[in-house]
Amino acid sequence: MTQCANPPPRPLQRYLVGKNSKLLKTVCDEVEFGTQFPGLVSDLFRIMKENGGVGLAAPQIGETVRVIVIKYASTFALMINPVIIKTPGKIVTSMNEGCLSFPGLRVDRKRHKRVIVEYFDENWKKVKLDARGLLAFIVQHEIDHLNGITINSEDSNA
Ligand SMILES: [Zn+2]
Repeated sequence: MTQCANPPPRPLQRYLVGKNSKLLKTVCDEVEFGTQFPGLVSDLFRIMKENGGVGLAAPQIGETVRVIVIKYASTFALMINPVIIKTPGKIVTSMNEGCLSFPGLRVDRKRHKRVIVEYFDENWKKVKLDARGLLAFIVQHEIDHLNGITINSEDSNA
């Protein structure tokens, strides 16, 4: 039996970063094709679930990479490098939009009612999702996070 020369590194303890963290204002990096990060993915799903969220973006737990998770209705997805490629719907107001990074804050935002988003899944398979209504709002909210935009950003409602 072989033995590790070095003990394995201690697992990272990830948690929601504070609402004033500069990580929430950071434009996140594209993930290189094929990269795997099982620890990050499981932490995203765990922290989203623990906090009763419908979506969570990697920078919210301290990793400035373009990775989000969404769990809403029948959609349960890990999205790597998500890009909105079409916005066929009109612009409407999302009522009472909240964010796990800003407990208690509720805002009305201008959002596309429908978006077509392309992303890579956990197997680096390209996926196209036609998101409407609340799911479309969630996709836009989480992708905003990857661009350093949060619901309290002045530029997020331009
Ligand atoms: Zn958020």
